[in-house]
Amino acid sequence: MVVVATRNMGKVREFRHAFAPLGKEVRSLHDYPEAPEVEEDGATFAENAFKKAKEIGDFLNLSVLADDSGLCVDMLGGAPGIYSARYAGEHGSDSANNEKLLDELMKLRQGDDTEQPLLSGARFVCALTLYDPATGRGIEAEGSVEGWITAETAGAGGFGYDPLFYVPEFERTMAELNVEEKQRISHRGAALRELLRKLGGSWE
Ligand code: IMP
Repeated sequence: MVVVATRNMGKVREFRHAFAPLGKEVRSLHDYPEAPEVEEDGATFAENAFKKAKEIGDFLNLSVLADDSGLCVDMLGGAPGIYSARYAGEHGSDSANNEKLLDELMKLRQGDDTEQPLLSGARFVCALTLYDPATGRGIEAEGSVEGWITAETAGAGGFGYDPLFYVPEFERTMAELNVEEKQRISHRGAALRELLRKLGGSWE
């Protein structure tokens, strides 16, 4: 069993897919409603991932995997970054976040009459921590994927900013990829593969 310190069903779906071949059942905080909300006040993805894994792992007294991830857009100086989940406000939905992202990019375009499609270099970043409360130690890994922000959403798969994130390799947005394809190239897939390497190729 792998306990993932998240309530985000998009992440849970991807972790279920990744751990299925290893015969691992994935549980999330929906299975542990008593688990506390962790304040994500770290300065980096890695700090927030460690904090989530430690607080939830110590509370449940179980080994816990935590994911902190987000989108970094070059034209916006790296925003929304660690604030990706709450870009449009504390309870911002994925669609509100996507709208805010396009608004911010459009603002930068005002007065620009080049008529080029709205494309800005961007990357998804994922930091993972696997924390063991018995030792108080965490194993950390990070992954990223480069792409472009498109002017219009496309696709219904994935979650978060996926409909606006164009993946050149597939010539489609992340939301137009199936879970298998996304896993192969995504920040989360890359971070998971690095974590597995650090564990020597096996999970327990
Ligand atoms: P966290 O739960 O604090 O790590 O916030 C993650 C946020 O980053 C999500 O709510 C999404 O907005 C964004 N994000 C992270 N990973 C992905 C992804 O794989 N696709 C799209 N958006 C993502």
